[in-house]
Amino acid sequence: MHDGVFMVGKVLVGVRTRQWVTLCLGLLTCSIASIASAADCPGHPDALGTSRTLVVDPKAHPRIGTMQYAETLPLRDHEVVLTFDDGPLPHNSNQILEILASQCVKATFFTVGSMAQNSPEGVRKLREAGHTIATHTQTHPIGFDRFSPERAKQEIDQGIASVTAALGEGGGLAPFFRPPGLRRSPAVEDYLASLGIQIWSADFPADDWRHIPASRVYDLAMKRLEAKGKGILLLHDIQARTVAALPRILLAMKARGYHIVHVVPATSQQPNTPTEPLQWQLHPPSETVAILHWPGIPRFVYADAGALPAPSLPDSGFHDGLLVSLAEPFDRTNRRAHGVPLPQQAPWPRLSLSPPGNAAIVLPVPAQNIFEIQEKPGAAVQTDAPSSRHAEQTVSPAADSRASLISVGAGASRRAIRGGPNSGRAQRAGVSQIAAHRTRMAAGAGRGALRH
Ligand SMILES: [Zn+2]
Repeated sequence: MHDGVFMVGKVLVGVRTRQWVTLCLGLLTCSIASIASAADCPGHPDALGTSRTLVVDPKAHPRIGTMQYAETLPLRDHEVVLTFDDGPLPHNSNQILEILASQCVKATFFTVGSMAQNSPEGVRKLREAGHTIATHTQTHPIGFDRFSPERAKQEIDQGIASVTAALGEGGGLAPFFRPPGLRRSPAVEDYLASLGIQIWSADFPADDWRHIPASRVYDLAMKRLEAKGKGILLLHDIQARTVAALPRILLAMKARGYHIVHVVPATSQQPNTPTEPLQWQLHPPSETVAILHWPGIPRFVYADAGALPAPSLPDSGFHDGLLVSLAEPFDRTNRRAHGVPLPQQAPWPRLSLSPPGNAAIVLPVPAQNIFEIQEKPGAAVQTDAPSSRHAEQTVSPAADSRASLISVGAGASRRAIRGGPNSGRAQRAGVSQIAAHRTRMAAGAGRGALRH
């Protein structure tokens, strides 16, 4: 019922009815957009200042911040919007307020309902200093994006009610909301849109919630700002490292020609700043800037892993028949039976027409008896040595081939065995004994190779 109206002084009367009642009690409390600039900063002639106030219509642009959304605030190059989450926490938040005041800088604070209950005066200080006050749920829960719609609504409504209660009759709550941990969800987005509340993500954080030194917070803030050239900076007024880093950040912004923009929602007295749709469009994300949720992380369903489709051969890049030809020997009978002509020449590599049992000839697999020899050397000698026939059996073609891969000496045994059936019996026996001996040597070489 208040299209485009800044809900300064509104109180959430009855969470169930979700009716907003305007309790704007006067222009002094309604017009928080007191524009400050460096020239208007008494006692601080070199202050960074607030260059301009941007008045936005939450309903026209319900979701902003390139860390998650396509749209962000229509800032010009070198313009920055400061945001502080999770307060108020008097000890640190008051120092943040002093630092901002010393630079005449206006920011937006996403306050937590429970923190506002603990420190209602801290919320009122934000209003007195002219900052924009928004909400950030009641308890700042973890996993907000996994909440049921009802539970998420409860967190949002209670947060609004608590901050509104802390502000009291003076009001001053803006229809801006930031999900805790930036954990957005469609249900939350839909609900907030129905209330006319704008969801704020950010354009870049400074990781000030992590256990890093203040110098690192400064480095990240400036590095990411330089990468984007403008945008919404996400900070936390409850963090001591942020208190320590903020003065240097503001000084660096001043030195590098950045300007602070104060954002307020439109009201009936203060219409939104005219903008073009393209000004709200996505800035290309920087590789140096963390992005949450966008692009989405694919969800793997491991239970279905067994049903995943195999990559098709046409897509594999092996179009020359190599992979297909490997399976052809098994189809040859059927091919002949069905009159399918066989290829005159197999594609490279040439296919072996040998029966599958001889496939081991080309496989470099250590023979089982190699390991038996290692464990029971005496038994191996007895097994290999007694007869040429046994030696021939022991030095099977497969074992022969395996040994050849281990020792060049095994080549002699292969030649000896392949003396053929026309060789003399004594010759065969003698050669076979040599073969058996060389096999044992080859086996020893194999053991050595395995050990190293
Ligand atoms: Zn937070």
